[in-house]
Amino acid sequence: MAYTITDACISCGVCEAECPVSCITAGDDKYVIDADACIDCGTCAGVCPVEAPQPE
Ligand code: SF4
Ligand code: SF4
Repeated sequence: MAYTITDACISCGVCEAECPVSCITAGDDKYVIDADACIDCGTCAGVCPVEAPQPE
């Protein structure tokens, strides 16, 4: 299980800085999570202003 970032993402970058395993990177139109590296901690969901990261 991993978190994924939905189209609600406004590319603010806050989650990238807060992820403990640095598995969030900027994509073309939104930020993306490397599902293989994500440890499902939920930190990104907690800091996102638009609730874009969601558990799969
Ligand atoms: Fe990173 Fe945790 Fe979000 Fe996974 S759930 S992308 S490990 S902050
Ligand atoms: Fe996108 Fe939310 Fe991450 Fe900002 S904190 S880059 S809006 S997912």
